[in-house]
Amino acid sequence: MKRLTSMLGREPSREYEYQCLACSEHFVTDEAHMARVSCPGCGSADVRSVAAEH
Ligand SMILES: [Zn+2]
Repeated sequence: MKRLTSMLGREPSREYEYQCLACSEHFVTDEAHMARVSCPGCGSADVRSVAAEH
């Protein structure tokens, strides 16, 4: 059995919400690590996580 996602220690179906502090863009990504997230609107890496309920 190949379980590629388990190598990364995260599930691909999981989504994380972030808000850009530069332009207030609200977006969702499957990237769990804030340090690797950048705003799709302005490209700023200055984002904060938003608690999301699923
Ligand atoms: Zn932005």
